[in-house]
Formats: sequence, C-alpha cells, structure tokens
Amino acid sequence: MTGFGPTRRGAALVCSLLAAVTAAAAAPQTTIIHAGRLIDGVSDTVKSQQTVVVVDGKITAIEAGYRTPGVDDRVVDLKQGTLLPGLFDMHVHLSGEYSKNSEINDYKLNEADLAIDSVVYAERTLLAGFTTVRDLGDEFRETIALRNAINAGKVPGPRVIAAGKSIATTGGHADPSNGWARKFPSDPGPADGVINSPEDARKAVRQRYKEGSDTIKITATGGVLSIAKSGSNPQFTEEEVRAVVSAARDYGFKVAAHAHGTEGIKRAVRGGVDTIEHGTFLDDEGIKLMKERGTFYVPTMSAGRWVYEQGLKPDFFPPIVRPKALAVGPQIQQTFAKAYKAGVKILFGTDTGVNPHGTNGGEFRLMVDGGMPAMETIKAATSVPAKFLELDDRTGSIAVGKLGELVGVPGDPLTDIGVMERVVFVMKDNTVYKAP
Ligand SMILES: [Zn+2]
Repeated sequence: MTGFGPTRRGAALVCSLLAAVTAAAAAPQTTIIHAGRLIDGVSDTVKSQQTVVVVDGKITAIEAGYRTPGVDDRVVDLKQGTLLPGLFDMHVHLSGEYSKNSEINDYKLNEADLAIDSVVYAERTLLAGFTTVRDLGDEFRETIALRNAINAGKVPGPRVIAAGKSIATTGGHADPSNGWARKFPSDPGPADGVINSPEDARKAVRQRYKEGSDTIKITATGGVLSIAKSGSNPQFTEEEVRAVVSAARDYGFKVAAHAHGTEGIKRAVRGGVDTIEHGTFLDDEGIKLMKERGTFYVPTMSAGRWVYEQGLKPDFFPPIVRPKALAVGPQIQQTFAKAYKAGVKILFGTDTGVNPHGTNGGEFRLMVDGGMPAMETIKAATSVPAKFLELDDRTGSIAVGKLGELVGVPGDPLTDIGVMERVVFVMKDNTVYKAP
C-alpha cells in the first residue's frame, strides 16, 4: 500500500491546484430569492416580501422587500409562495421501496441493486424538499456508500445520517433471515446486526462504527412488515438495550428504537434510547417515561396509513403481515394525537421506503390532523431535528451564516398544509435542483 503514497499525494496536489485555478477564474455565484412569505424555522412570525441572498452556498443577507438582482445573479421568483428551511425526515429507508414483490426480492437482490435504487430514491427525496434525512436501516451498508457519494457531490441527494444495518435479535424485526428455509444460511450474528446478549450488543455497535454508520438503530419490538407473527412483542431485554446505548455513547452515536408494543417501548426508553420510532401502542406510563427522560417521538404516520391502505386489499401482503398492517395504521394516528397533547417532544419522520419515496411531505397533513399546529409541524421538520442532530450551526433555519438549504412551496402552509406536498423550489450545495 505504501508504494501508492507518493502517486496519490501527487494526484491530490494536481487536483487542488486545478481547484484553485477554477475558483480564481469564476466569480462567486450569487442567488437572489424573492420570497412572498418567509418562515425561518425558529420564529413564529411569518415575514412577507423578503429577499434571501445565497453566495457560494451560504446565506449572506435577508432583507425586507425585493432586491434588484445584479446581471450575473441567479434569481428565484417565489413571490407567490413561501420560503422555508430545507426539510428533515428523521426516518427513511433510501435503498428500498416496499412492493408486492418485496418478499421474493429479498432472495433476488444484491448490494448493487439496492445501491443503484438508493441513488434514484435519494434524488426523489431531495426534490420533495428534504435536504437532510436519517436513514434508519439498510442491508449491505449501501446507504453509507450513498451518503459518501452525495457528500462528494457525485450524485444529488439529501444529507444522509445513516444507521447502516439495524440491530435486531434472532427472529426479530430486521433479522435478515426471517422466513428463510433452513437450506439458506440463517443464523446471522452481531456483525450482521443480530444480537442475543449485552456482549453481542456491544460488538454489533462497534461493527456499525467500523462500517461507517452515523447513528444506531435497534428494533426493540416486532414490526409490521417482517415475516413473523407478532408486530409488537418485546424483542430486546432492557439489559441488551442498555448495552447498545452505553456502547453507542463511546462512539458519539445516538440510538433510535423501532418500537410498536407497550412493553418494548418502555424497555427502550428506560434503557436510554434517544428516539422512539412509530410508538404505536404507547400508553400513559410510556408517555410519562418519555417526558421524564426527554425521549423524542418519531411518529411515522405516513407508513402507518400506507400499510393500512394496502392491508385493505386481500392479496397485497403475505398472509402473516396483513393483520398486523390493519391493526397498526390507524392506531399510530391516535397515539400521535395523544402523545402530542401530553407534551412528548416530536420529530418529523415518515418511514418512507414503506410508502413511496417523494411522498414524505404527506406527513405534515397527518400531524396537523392529529392536533399539531402547522407552524409547529414545520419546526419539527427543521430547527428541532437540526438541533437534535447537532447540525443547527449549519442548517435547520433561515439565518445569515447558515447554509443555503432552502425549499419553496406554493401558497401558504399555515392556511393549507397540503402545499408541503407540492414543493416547487429546492436548493442545496449551491445548486438549484428545482425552481418555480
Ligand atoms: Zn423504518
């Protein structure tokens, strides 16, 4: 390996020289956005008729009125719409999309298939206005490769906070061999994200660190779409959760727990996880625990609704999945309404990849229907997750000095939340991906 050292350094030097020449030749790119309304993600005040100036990817000015652009400026006319910070979806799966063929595809698709799909779905997600996502579970660390390619500017997509492979227990939700015949290798271990002891749990977390994960995901209870009977039974001991969390802290990881059932939710919260995903059968004691511990709730009602709708069709799901899909969907919406009212902290998240990529914005309407004011739903998808992910020094709000990660919707989301599903402007990395 050392033999390649000088060559690589030589190549890097040529590259940086080229970059310097290019930068000197090109004047900084200025983008002038004329916004009819501006919601900054932090304040409750909506400003009207504003100009936001982005120079080389950073917000340099926010002014009242519409500034007259210079000859070389790129102009975005959003006078009829509302400018918002780039949106966050705290629960997606970018390398897949559930379909009637999903069960059989599990035997047919390899790493490369999923990696190529993830590039397509990442672009769809970005064009729907989501400039940052947390990917909570892949199969072959393909979302880590995707994240790296996006960060390197090779493919368009949101900033990805990737969990890599979810950590499950044997037979549990995210055991990759569920439902397989014995003739296939079917006893995965901690390196594959399947644990059965606190010791395994630590090994599984360290393996994720080695593979380049940004965060840890566990499946604390059964799940709707796994080929297994229960969608809600507890699948981790509290000791195992604690071992995951304490190992995760050594590496600066936060821990997200998929959890539908009441007991599994409580074990996860007591074990110290940072977010509860779905939380379907959350009860009053669980709500109390989450409030005491400051655990965030990521409701993912979009996926709940979608599986319910598919469950109404007789043949869409494998027979073992259908009753779970019918039970979980409507329940999540009731749980969200109750948890929000009780004061549980909420982060916007959809579980898209269950429902189709690019439909993430539908969650806003479900949140408003559940009693959360529109302005709060926007904060739950901008400044609140930015702070949670410790990205608030860069993004999550519209302010001078922040990155120009910006989204425009037609009309006013405070009077019609449905506009969040019709994003007309997307800017990230100094590139306008969609313009009105
Ligand atoms: Zn999920």
